[in-house]
Amino acid sequence: MITALQILFVLLLLIIIIHFVFKPRRKRSIWWPANYRELLLDYCAFYERLDDEAKKNFEEKFEKFLSSVSITGANADVEDLDRVLIGAAAVIPVFYIRDWEYVHLREVLLYPGNFNVDFEQSGNERMISGMVGTGYMQHVMILNKWDLRQGFINSGSNRNTAIHEFVHLVDKMDGTLDGVPELLLERKYVERWKDLLHVEMDRIRQGLSDIDAYGATSLVECFAVISEYFFEQPEQFKVFHPELNTMIERIFLRKG
Ligand SMILES: [Zn+2]
Repeated sequence: MITALQILFVLLLLIIIIHFVFKPRRKRSIWWPANYRELLLDYCAFYERLDDEAKKNFEEKFEKFLSSVSITGANADVEDLDRVLIGAAAVIPVFYIRDWEYVHLREVLLYPGNFNVDFEQSGNERMISGMVGTGYMQHVMILNKWDLRQGFINSGSNRNTAIHEFVHLVDKMDGTLDGVPELLLERKYVERWKDLLHVEMDRIRQGLSDIDAYGATSLVECFAVISEYFFEQPEQFKVFHPELNTMIERIFLRKG
């Protein structure tokens, strides 16, 4: 005989099942602002230079990126412009690479200012403006809001912190962060590429290069700094660094 208690139990079970099966999906925050195209035109020279068809292609990649990676403020307000600039910086380096995805990246943390190697925002050694996480932070990128914006507002410069960090992710995609993006650069060019980076690092140390001094730190940083310059001032880079330009076009523009 079925008791009232048993009926109650079955009802309770049904409620629990219905709750989990038909649970309304948590509404995700808006991934990109409605006027993002205007913001891209105003702040992103790379996008502005593209023809209509390429702009559409850029927008697709931009929306895909922003819908797959969360952007969180760490004591910083994530404003529409920040979202747009992060999306743009993610797309720019890989725009010409077919079906690229930053598969390991889950979150971009936005700090208001510089931070140190322990991700602390105060205290000594506040000198890092962007970072690709390692270890327990390996799916996270940290950007500093001020530098993120400067990279796009200051259109005459050859620096862009956010592009720099995304280039590190491109570099790291083959498993090693070493200044050589093996997935993109044909093996036959690898030695020449490293030689060219070493030569340029020497030129930077001797004060003979217009490439930012931070590029002399290591092959990894040299690749990232050169890439910033290539994407920010393509014409100038081509004139001043023709050999590096040919090689970097092989990497990012997939030219043979
Ligand atoms: Zn770096």
